[in-house]
Amino acid sequence: MPVLVMKFGGTSVATLDRIRRAAKRVGVEVAKGYDVIVIVSAMSGETNKLVGYVNETSPLFDAREYDAIVSSGENVTAGLMALTLQEMDVPARSWQGWQVPVKTTSAHASARIEEIPTDNINAKFGEGMKVAVVAGFQGFSPEGRITTLGRGGSDTTAVAFAAAFGAERCDIYTDVDGVYTTDPRICDKARKLDRISFEEMLELASLGAKVLQTRSVELAMRYKVKLRVLSSFEEQSDEAGTLVCDEEDIMESNVVAGVAYSRDEAKLTLVSVADRPGIAAAIFVPLAEAGVNVDMIIQNISEEGRTDMTFSCPTDQVKRAEQALMARKDAGDINFHGLDVDEGVAKVSIVGIGMRSHAGVASKMFQVLADEGINIKVITTSEIKVSVLVERKYMELAVQALHDAFELEKA
Ligand code: ADP
Ligand code: ASP
Ligand code: MG
Repeated sequence: MPVLVMKFGGTSVATLDRIRRAAKRVGVEVAKGYDVIVIVSAMSGETNKLVGYVNETSPLFDAREYDAIVSSGENVTAGLMALTLQEMDVPARSWQGWQVPVKTTSAHASARIEEIPTDNINAKFGEGMKVAVVAGFQGFSPEGRITTLGRGGSDTTAVAFAAAFGAERCDIYTDVDGVYTTDPRICDKARKLDRISFEEMLELASLGAKVLQTRSVELAMRYKVKLRVLSSFEEQSDEAGTLVCDEEDIMESNVVAGVAYSRDEAKLTLVSVADRPGIAAAIFVPLAEAGVNVDMIIQNISEEGRTDMTFSCPTDQVKRAEQALMARKDAGDINFHGLDVDEGVAKVSIVGIGMRSHAGVASKMFQVLADEGINIKVITTSEIKVSVLVERKYMELAVQALHDAFELEKA
């Protein structure tokens, strides 16, 4: 039987009623002759609640226990989805990550999937089971501990299962009807795209568009998984939603394909560090070891052998960063005069493969922001994106102004 993977995100399984709706959709695909692997998220709000419990109990938590706790939301939905399908006379059972087992690295809270054995689930399909419901977001480490794949990780579970089982398609059901030129929740002119290239989707996701987890796009690109994003709330046809595909399969596209933002960024500046060989390593190696995901970095001009070093990271990693840097200061490994922390910034980015062949895109972006009176604090660029850090209160204005200026509402 051909296999289909269907993933339902948090809002799509937020209530028993919505689980029933989702199960009905699964039933439609089973009736077409598919063996279906359903990947479920925790009910909307559950994971945030669990993360809140962890932070309240232990601000610099042991990530192994964090995973034990935050992975549990998905277990509930998987069981409920299997029961709902059984009530509809669809043969189904649930699997938690360790039961498959979804083998991952030991990088707790951001583990990577290494292998998904298919024999266990395939044997059940062979016995007449029609739907395998798998708890998303979670896996099992070589040390035998429960791991999680990072926030939004159920998308990655879904694509990894699609690759492992050679699924005909991986459908990501969510609360919007596809991938838009920007988040439709903050820009009402956002336009739904029928297709988007893997490269652009990868950039948008890694720059904050949470509609797909970055790693899921990477996997889909590598294993050539046919990946589609669509709404769990609307009636669907086979052409619904947005197809994430190769660049060659897209007829025309704008120079800028989309605008992404990441709201909870922080900017940290080490004031007056010694400008000597090895100083960047002395700063960033301990940060990496403390699990801080450093994003943008700038080193300023040095005066009298001293310089300021600025970097950005997610706001929820600021405590870890401060702790790691102060420990090295106390140990005498890095000498700096002060640590400035600005937790009120956001990152806004424009993305498009057209930038490879068009000049002037970055300068236009800077002009648009200047015209709105928005100060740019840090800039980074790559071949197909430009990102800036701005004060958080200007984030939505920046997104809307850029969406207008690059005429993204027009195809
Ligand atoms: P799920 O719980 O189904 O995984 P998420 O909340 O993780 O859903 O992702 C869907 C959300 O992503 C949408 O509600 C939307 O606000 C947001 N989003 C951000 N950027 C985009 C974009 N470019 N296109 C579509 N949705 C986007
Ligand atoms: N429940 C997890 C989260 O909220 C994983 C997911 O929904 O994809 O991040
Ligand atoms: Mg998600």
